[in-house]
Amino acid sequence: MMTQCRPHVTDEFYVAGHVLSGGRFFDGHVLVDGGSVVAVVEGPPPVPPQATGLVLPGLINAHTHVGDAAVPPPPPDLGPAGIFPPPDGYKHRMLANLPQEELEAGITRYLDLMGAQGTVEHTDFREGGLPGVDLFRRASDRAEAPPRGRIFGRPAGMEFDPRELAELLASVDGIGLSAAMDWPRELTRDVVTAAHDMGKPVALHCSESEREELSWVLDLEPQFLVHMVFGTDQDFRDLAAAGVPVVVCPRSTHRFTNAPPVVAMARAGVQLRVGSDNAMLQGPSVLDDLILLWSQPGVREHLDPMEMLAWVLGSAKGSNMHGDIGVYAGSRDLAVLTFEGSDPLAFIEGPHAPSAKLVMIEGRVWRR
Ligand SMILES: [Zn+2]
Repeated sequence: MMTQCRPHVTDEFYVAGHVLSGGRFFDGHVLVDGGSVVAVVEGPPPVPPQATGLVLPGLINAHTHVGDAAVPPPPPDLGPAGIFPPPDGYKHRMLANLPQEELEAGITRYLDLMGAQGTVEHTDFREGGLPGVDLFRRASDRAEAPPRGRIFGRPAGMEFDPRELAELLASVDGIGLSAAMDWPRELTRDVVTAAHDMGKPVALHCSESEREELSWVLDLEPQFLVHMVFGTDQDFRDLAAAGVPVVVCPRSTHRFTNAPPVVAMARAGVQLRVGSDNAMLQGPSVLDDLILLWSQPGVREHLDPMEMLAWVLGSAKGSNMHGDIGVYAGSRDLAVLTFEGSDPLAFIEGPHAPSAKLVMIEGRVWRR
């Protein structure tokens, strides 16, 4: 795992290699001082760099369930209906049988793996109400290099308890619900209203194993939706018009049904992000999800690797548009990934995502 590199938190240092900035890669270097990027420059650094490789602004994993990291992978013949529904699905039976310390240790290991692969931020759908959120925080406190966590919690049960919800909302970044069709509409409406009244966003899974009615889901004003594997072209146009981004989880949905229709979504103008989904199913690098997508029929004919890379990077200067992506002065996030060769986008051919040599998350620096 990564070893903490404390002296560098305030010292200035250089990283170098294929630097992504202003929407393009070039041979260059980045100067970091006091936990912030202060210069992004073409050419070699004036002194030996702390790390050399692919210099990125850090990976953003837009959808995780790290809570099931300690659960062994389910048997390959078990479909989603046998794995996910509470309380008797595989995942919930396993979670109920594992001691809290093991659940917590599993989350800690997974968060460290995220950092080790260059992830600087993830958005986690935390189950189990407030105790589930507390479990995550304890696990994160023990991790060596955890990414910044945006925690989307949900009520522990299927009834509306205003006091429970108020306490939950006070401790999370948002509310993350399973599919809208899993919940009684009245309950969903009450939970969403309570969240919005407190200024907290709501996100939902949608059209993961079958198409769901999108107009009702859009009426809930979600900050983003997850999956949309079974969305129609009209759904994608509606999502683009509403400005609601979709987080796709290619490895996760490919395991059970299909890889998400990213070409159709991108053509319709949907903003795309990528998540690794359940920790029990696959590792946390969203670059592995791009690698899977790239292998799907029709993708390399219609999409550009740089456009896809933007789906997993932080927004530079408030935008992820082509010309803006990359490392920029003032950023406090950075990841230098292992790289050999001459084409910085060659990673997309696989077989596996590169790991990180150095990661800076909100100004704290780790390196191998
Ligand atoms: Zn999910």
